[in-house]
Amino acid sequence: MQILKDPKEFQQLCLEWRAQGQRLALVPTMGAYHAGHQSLMVAAKASDARVLVSLFVNPAQFGPGEDLAAYPRTPERDAEIAGAAGVDVLFTPDPHAMYEPDHVTWVDVPALTQTLCGISRPDHFRGVCTVVLKLLLLSQAHLAIFGEKDWQQLAVIRRAARDLNVPVEIRGCPTVRETDGLALSSRNVYLTPEERAQAPQLQAGLQQARELALRGERSASALHAAARAHWAGHLPLGREEYLSLVHPHSLEHMDTLGETAVMACAVRLGKARLIDNILLS
Ligand code: AMP
Repeated sequence: MQILKDPKEFQQLCLEWRAQGQRLALVPTMGAYHAGHQSLMVAAKASDARVLVSLFVNPAQFGPGEDLAAYPRTPERDAEIAGAAGVDVLFTPDPHAMYEPDHVTWVDVPALTQTLCGISRPDHFRGVCTVVLKLLLLSQAHLAIFGEKDWQQLAVIRRAARDLNVPVEIRGCPTVRETDGLALSSRNVYLTPEERAQAPQLQAGLQQARELALRGERSASALHAAARAHWAGHLPLGREEYLSLVHPHSLEHMDTLGETAVMACAVRLGKARLIDNILLS
């Protein structure tokens, strides 16, 4: 595996591989790898492509007062994991190499980002979309792979790539969970043992809503109430930021469950802000 820091060198190598007719698959990450990241690398490898993984804690997607400085960084371990997963290039640029001091160009997807996580993190998705577009332009990857754990991020990137005619396939992969149901996240390290013990109840609450939907309930408020009732009993340390039933692609709020919808939530648990979702159909 090659480890490259310089965006120009990374671009040069990707262009050479493309010129040789090779397929390229990109997995954008911020590091501190867990089995969720590994699953995306494995999916990229299985696509019969050169696997490009970017490891970049993107300052543009952190708001004031968020955890940019404290974000977990484990670069040596990450390189070992990426190497073992068969990654061809690990791209680890420095922030100043990705953003010139007078950088002013941003990719904004307002309709999909002024909701859900975008309410408490107003500039977050602008930072995400801009860095992903930069990575797609540097690599010219044929395929880019993202986790469904960050459902809104996946929907926003799909829309940006479609609207801007980026010649790439955007693919989502299922959320990888601990055996007790907690979605793996680099930020789970912020949880105290007591918070960690309650954290799986986040997904368990969403499953209560799903079971009610399977029994025929269509009202979003009744489905929300089922999740909240579970959290009230089992997740007392959690502070709900949002819980919403939305269309999987447009992210528009739904009062009534249609053919398919996603129930998405964010809950603060101590220092951690956990997000999760469940597909209802
Ligand atoms: P991050 O390093 O947190 O920015 O995540 C990099 C990629 O890994 C994103 O596409 C995430 O959606 C994905 N990801 C994070 N956690 C998981 C998980 N538990 N299962 C599957 N994919 C994940």
